[in-house]
Amino acid sequence: MAEDVLEIADLHVSVGDKAIIKGTDLRVGKGEVHVLFGPNGSGKSTLLAAVMRLPGYTQTSGSITVNGTPTETLSTDAIARLGVGISFQHPPAIRGVTLERFLKRIDRSDDLEAAVARLDMERFLGRELNVGFSGGELKRAEILKLYAQNPQLLLIDEPESGVDIENIAVIARAINTILQGERPMKLREKSALIITHTGHILNYIDADVGHVFMDGRIVCSGNPQTIMEDIRKHGFAGCAACLKTQKALP
Ligand code: ADP
Ligand code: MG
Repeated sequence: MAEDVLEIADLHVSVGDKAIIKGTDLRVGKGEVHVLFGPNGSGKSTLLAAVMRLPGYTQTSGSITVNGTPTETLSTDAIARLGVGISFQHPPAIRGVTLERFLKRIDRSDDLEAAVARLDMERFLGRELNVGFSGGELKRAEILKLYAQNPQLLLIDEPESGVDIENIAVIARAINTILQGERPMKLREKSALIITHTGHILNYIDADVGHVFMDGRIVCSGNPQTIMEDIRKHGFAGCAACLKTQKALP
């Protein structure tokens, strides 16, 4: 069995007084790509925020372990240093910092210039980070940030939302390059947890496991393509794979 890069056990997370993550488990092994489906407001982005230990999200019980290290007392910075990188659903704009300056500051990659060209971002290098970027440009800048940061575990929140079909392919190919380098046949060394609303990303990225996330927890897991088809046919609530698992729940 693959070594676990991320292990989440019976995790509960609150924002203020409100419980958002209500007891969920997840293990992501080395080289594995997991996708998370689920309705809006179910807590998917909160799960990623909790893994990064972003301010405002309180882990009330359960545990998160990254490469064998429990993260409960760590800062976000320390978690990034453990090799975790996040691409936000809604990335912040930062005035006064150009994209180029930001990327150079965090760059641990092999060939940043090639990635900039691949994502067609040359003309944005001199612009303030994410200021006035369109939906697709924001997502390309986020993936470029991940490329530069070169983490072992990629947390990617809705890479295809607000992006046209052509750019989804560009973004997905760039994610694949981060995951397995330039050689497509090479065994994947990096891991990813990707939130997808549309599932389009599955046309380009070979995912190992899919999960359906509802009301603060993973309610079923299985083959990502099968789960996607079930959701398309029956919706989240009626997803056949989910129903099977939910019946087994107490
Ligand atoms: P998803 O990504 O599945 O759409 P989210 O994790 O963004 O869901 O949100 C889950 C719930 O938590 C929503 O009801 C949302 O309003 C609430 N929530 C998330 N972050 C915050 C926050 N910083 N302050 C207040 N409520 C929040
Ligand atoms: Mg979200």
